[in-house]
Amino acid sequence: MKILSVNAGSSSLKFQMYEMPDEEVLISGVFERIGMEGSFYTIKLNGEKKEKKVELPDHKKAFELLVSELMENKIVDTLDDIVGIGHRIVQGGSYFDRSVVASDDVIQKIDELSSLAPLHNPAAITGIKAAQAVIPEALQAVVFDTAFHQTIPEENYLYALPYEWEKEYKIRRYGAHGTSHKYVSLKMNEILDRQDTKLITCHIGNGASISAILNGKCINTSMGLTPNAGLIMGTRCGDIDATIVPYMMDVLKINSKEMDTILNKKSGLLGISGISSDSRDIEAGIKEGNKRCELAEKMYVRRIVDYIAKYYVELEGCDAIVFTAGVGENSVPIRRKVVEALSVLGVKLDEEKNNIRGSIQKISTSDSSIKVYVIPTDEELMIARDTFELINS
Ligand code: ADP
Repeated sequence: MKILSVNAGSSSLKFQMYEMPDEEVLISGVFERIGMEGSFYTIKLNGEKKEKKVELPDHKKAFELLVSELMENKIVDTLDDIVGIGHRIVQGGSYFDRSVVASDDVIQKIDELSSLAPLHNPAAITGIKAAQAVIPEALQAVVFDTAFHQTIPEENYLYALPYEWEKEYKIRRYGAHGTSHKYVSLKMNEILDRQDTKLITCHIGNGASISAILNGKCINTSMGLTPNAGLIMGTRCGDIDATIVPYMMDVLKINSKEMDTILNKKSGLLGISGISSDSRDIEAGIKEGNKRCELAEKMYVRRIVDYIAKYYVELEGCDAIVFTAGVGENSVPIRRKVVEALSVLGVKLDEEKNNIRGSIQKISTSDSSIKVYVIPTDEELMIARDTFELINS
């Protein structure tokens, strides 16, 4: 059975087609600069990548071209072969604790939540509608970044703000990267061959979050109402004293939009180092003796360690710490520094095993008190799995 996994942004459309239940990737690609000048798409098939410049006035055109590619490359014979399409949705609010079929009511709720994810939810709806128009017979499923975090208890998802704000304005912790935290935690439990586990999963990419997972259920996560909470990220500040915001708005005489741009796009590794949001550039800067890069990485690592320590206490122990996403899967020095800072808990790194990028590996020693793993994430596969399950349910 062929299933498409789709991630629609405001000007992009990423896709991956799977043969399910084998979980084999048949073709993948991305349409970029939709609705803009210079649009194009890239397709990856049989290990080869090709790029085509085309006009992409809207997402519907992208789906039409996608269908032609699928047919030309003999991935499908007819539209009926595309049985399901799973769409990634950033914000599901308190409405969705699992993936569901994209009914009119569901789409309306996703739309209602747009104020909490103004860049993402409207784009995802555009993607669903375009897919429905071009491939009407396929089951359209929606998979939420927030759903896995809906098991977080009230004391962890509420902010100490006026109590009514949660009901009236939906102000609470929703978290993000849920699909990734779920994927790596399932994989970790599979490796440990147990379900009754205490896991701390670290999704550290350009955006970054850490979750505490007890017996397969998320009990806390570092992102909040929006992704700008918790860890220091590429360009986001993460946790700060909230009162800095109105204070600096007055000092700089800037409005909320300008402040939001500073907090989300000009802070984090970029804000401290002054050179880059990319951990590779920070590492290169450190090698050249750049003190601000050194400081940025110190702060970045400190915050990760703080969250792991906090969740260790909250979980009352930990069976395994998992690193995933761009930095977690690839940065040997950041993983080393995090694990070294946890030595007080008896966590021990195997230096040689830590010297890997992008593959599953245990990186702790056999006498480490907590196992530490690198597990590459696969959000697209989770979307395909959930869609497959909805088709069969
Ligand atoms: P996103 O949040 O955009 O999905 P990713 O998970 O793809 O981000 O992570 C991208 C980040 O991963 C880059 O900004 C960079 O900091 C980091 N990264 C990627 N490759 C490496 C590498 N080889 N070494 C260190 N960091 C890396």
